[in-house]
Amino acid sequence: MRAEGGRSGKRRQRIGVMGGTFDPIHYGHLVTAEAARHEFRLEQVIFVPSGRPPHKRPEEITDAKHRYTMTVLATLTNPHFDVSRVDIDRPGVTYTIDTISDLRALYGPEAELYFITGADALLEIVSWKDAERLVSMCQFIGATRPGYSLDQLEQNLGPLYRRYRRSFHFLEVPALAISSTEIRRRVRTGSPIRYLVPETVAFYIAKNRLYLEGN
Ligand code: NAP
Repeated sequence: MRAEGGRSGKRRQRIGVMGGTFDPIHYGHLVTAEAARHEFRLEQVIFVPSGRPPHKRPEEITDAKHRYTMTVLATLTNPHFDVSRVDIDRPGVTYTIDTISDLRALYGPEAELYFITGADALLEIVSWKDAERLVSMCQFIGATRPGYSLDQLEQNLGPLYRRYRRSFHFLEVPALAISSTEIRRRVRTGSPIRYLVPETVAFYIAKNRLYLEGN
């Protein structure tokens, strides 16, 4: 499905850009992407696993090849989902300004890009590289757990939020009670992760002996 764009009636592509570390990807992420696709009438949601997140030490996160493969396995059966390697293949630290610039170059200036991520991550956006330019380049969808208060967001983002209020959207996702931290903890302590992640992802984690140590 393609959405109408503006008064000219010209159709503009609406693309979701699902940014995250995905360490590992779980049903909370998948439900978020599908809900965003439906709610914002997106034609496609591109999952973009981070290469080297600026706020995490490299030894804290699982090798990108595993996070990428699990993301591909998890999204395989949804024809509207795709996975991009732009953040993994770009050398150096992953900044969202580069993610959006790369995808903008790929989809062209007419495409409407919606960057989807956890609302907690968006809270920090003022500290992200080229925040003001980034906010002017796309729309943002912050996924929240039910009961999440948006007051903090307004406080943290200050003038940037007030200026670009219409670029920020929020989506309550009950399935986000699942978290990657909890999945890793469950694997480490021998608790089941079945029904929290797709079966293929659970098999991949077991086969590659991921998350048996660390946090
Ligand atoms: P994070 O700090 O690991 O996550 C913060 C919260 O958001 C966690 O509860 C996390 O849950 C949730 N979350 C993360 N991605 C999500 C998604 N796509 N959908 C729903 N919930 C999500 O955040 P992160 O994963 O490292 O980064 C999120 C995105 O922000 C990435 O694309 C990253 O590149 C970008 N970012 C950019 C900059 C910058 O440009 N300077 C700085 C920081 C982050 P789970 O742990 O369960 O995923």
